[in-house]
Amino acid sequence: MARQNVLSVENVSVSFPGNSGDLIVVDDVSFTLAAGESLVIAGESGSGKSMICQSLLGILPPQAKVSGTRIDWLGRDLLQAGDKDWRTIRGAEIAMIFQDPTAALNPLITVEHQIGDAIRDHRKCSRAEARARTIEVLGMAGFPEPEHRMKSYPSELSGGLRQRVAIALALSCGPKLIIADEATTNLDVSIQAQIVTLLKKLQQDLGLALIFVTHDLGLAAQVGDNLLVMYAGHAVEQGGVRQVLDDPCHPYTRGLLRSAP
Ligand code: ADP
Ligand code: MG
Repeated sequence: MARQNVLSVENVSVSFPGNSGDLIVVDDVSFTLAAGESLVIAGESGSGKSMICQSLLGILPPQAKVSGTRIDWLGRDLLQAGDKDWRTIRGAEIAMIFQDPTAALNPLITVEHQIGDAIRDHRKCSRAEARARTIEVLGMAGFPEPEHRMKSYPSELSGGLRQRVAIALALSCGPKLIIADEATTNLDVSIQAQIVTLLKKLQQDLGLALIFVTHDLGLAAQVGDNLLVMYAGHAVEQGGVRQVLDDPCHPYTRGLLRSAP
């Protein structure tokens, strides 16, 4: 079957106004992503990973300027998207999971109600239907005993469980792409492995496209079909994960792989 791109990023740059001209933080980056495929974006802190993700959701900082040929998302150009387009795209088509799950969760609202409200905002359905869907997505995210424990507030949960709630929230409106921006960075190694396995399983079971952002190249082989390595705003390496890891062409990637444990 022909590979069908859901996302095609073409020559995208992001810059900020600086004292001596614009500071380019993402420089002419291009990549594609097909349905059911995963892309790992790796690179050290400050290399431009988050700016790429944020340009896909229209949530760049207000001073940032994004330019390029096109960001094709299911036939629409995100570089031309307006507020109305973003309202449909965010959450319902592309969902993002952040390093700090509390960024997406309201501390004053129970897990049940935050996910239920998101579902009811998205599609007109009864409370009972929203509740059933809440239990379903919590189950998909591996949240234990959802019927009982969804009455918890975020602060009553461990970091790992909060990240599962954030994943359930991301799944709640049936997105086609999930972007996990350093979503496992703050977690203990064993929990990190569980979340990585979960995201991989969701990608495969639901046919989701996944962008997994990490500064840990070691995670790339576990998660990615394809790998994009960022260095100082440039895509210095891109291709199949094995191909890039086995035969890196850039000194930065070679150095990273040599220093990996
Ligand atoms: P990463 O996610 O790879 O750690 P980012 O994409 O967040 O890196 O940032 C890329 C570059 O953009 C960094 O050098 C950062 O300092 C710069 N940057 C990010 N946000 C802003 C901002 N609001 N104003 C100016 N520069 C910014
Ligand atoms: Mg970042």
